[in-house]
Amino acid sequence: MHDSQPAGITVLGATGSIGVNTLDVVSRYPGRFNVIALTGNTDVEALAGQCERFLPRYAVMADPDAAERLAALLRNTAPDVQVLGGRDALVEVAGLPAVDFVMAAIVGAAGLLPCLEAARRGKRVLLANKEALVMSGALFMQAVRDNDAVLLPIDSEHNAILQCMPDNYTAGHAPRGVRKIMLTASGGPFRTLPVSKLAGVTPAQACAHPNWEMGRKISVDSATMMNKGLEVIEAGWLFDLPLEKIKVLIHPQSILHSMVEYDDGSVIAQLGNPDMRIPITHALAWPERIDSGAAQLDLAAVGSLQFEDPDRAHFPCLELACHAWRQGGTAPAILNAANEVAVQAFLDKQIAFTSIPRLIEHAMERCTVHDGTSLQVILEDDAAARRQARDYIDSDRMQASS
Ligand code: NAD
Ligand code: MG
Repeated sequence: MHDSQPAGITVLGATGSIGVNTLDVVSRYPGRFNVIALTGNTDVEALAGQCERFLPRYAVMADPDAAERLAALLRNTAPDVQVLGGRDALVEVAGLPAVDFVMAAIVGAAGLLPCLEAARRGKRVLLANKEALVMSGALFMQAVRDNDAVLLPIDSEHNAILQCMPDNYTAGHAPRGVRKIMLTASGGPFRTLPVSKLAGVTPAQACAHPNWEMGRKISVDSATMMNKGLEVIEAGWLFDLPLEKIKVLIHPQSILHSMVEYDDGSVIAQLGNPDMRIPITHALAWPERIDSGAAQLDLAAVGSLQFEDPDRAHFPCLELACHAWRQGGTAPAILNAANEVAVQAFLDKQIAFTSIPRLIEHAMERCTVHDGTSLQVILEDDAAARRQARDYIDSDRMQASS
């Protein structure tokens, strides 16, 4: 696309970790991309800086008050940027005709509607926002197929698997000749911490990931391994595979990003330094290959790569996610919503780290699972799970204070 027209791109969640890495790659290729819209939530200064640098047509703050502050900041420095506020504006800039690519890098359920819009408008969807797919897999994959959207995963594991698939493979179809896929997981900061010590860990410790620098929500998910659980569900939808064909393997170095095992016994892997610009660049340039700016992999310096099976007792969230995937329907949306509430409560120091799986289990036991093909039902079940999770937190705190 670069040798003709530049590709119009919207970056949803531009101010986050994935958004910043995306703009880093975009800035390396002047003329290849045309930044149509950048979005943030409340971080006005960060989005203002990005707008001054990339001069998008639109800047959206999900929070309307923040949008007003952004407009005031840009009045002198970037007056041509049109500032919009609110959740509808996120959806609008994901579907504009001038947009070819949508980087979906909002964290959590807040990204669902703009992500779906990008698929419905047949965009190239660069999907980092795994929660959106976990919540609405059947609906989202149908929208991709019906509208000839191109779905490219940004999650390093799923991007690796896509790279290990046959050349003509596209997401959403069962690959031929594949015996299983192996999703690697670092095991997070608490992999070797005794289970008895997990109750006392702090948000700062949970967010100190050994290999990756990421937003706080996904960092906590990595520490509980709910991240890998969400990724199992994500892989199920992206590659149309049953749970038995998706294996999770701990690999503490985060150098080998995942593998595909074929029926003949061949195992194909993708390796690289833990730098999200690699999968982001793969998806931005696909099917071309261009420089991402990442350091070259020095395997001799890495020395050795280790692999082990996950200890399920250490990481109950992984099992909860697999259970939700087996249940199907809206069960993954319920799991995801309860997890979002639990993680926020842990970050706000309202609950202990070990209460995260308990809270999710509580919500899953109390919410009714419905068919997952209606957006309205998905959103209702998401809301029901959040209510159950908040009730649990309130009762947990009452018990703690009595
Ligand atoms: P982050 O917290 O750094 O950034 C999140 C972005 O979403 C920010 O721009 C924020 O302003 C925006 N946002 C947050 N709440 C919002 C709301 N209610 N409405 C609108 N916008 C909102 O998160 P991140 O680490 O960049 O992760 C983004 C997504 O990518 C997540 O789904 C995560 O699981 C996935 N992902 C991240 C990484 C990584 O290395 N960071 C790797 C794989 C997948
Ligand atoms: Mg990942």
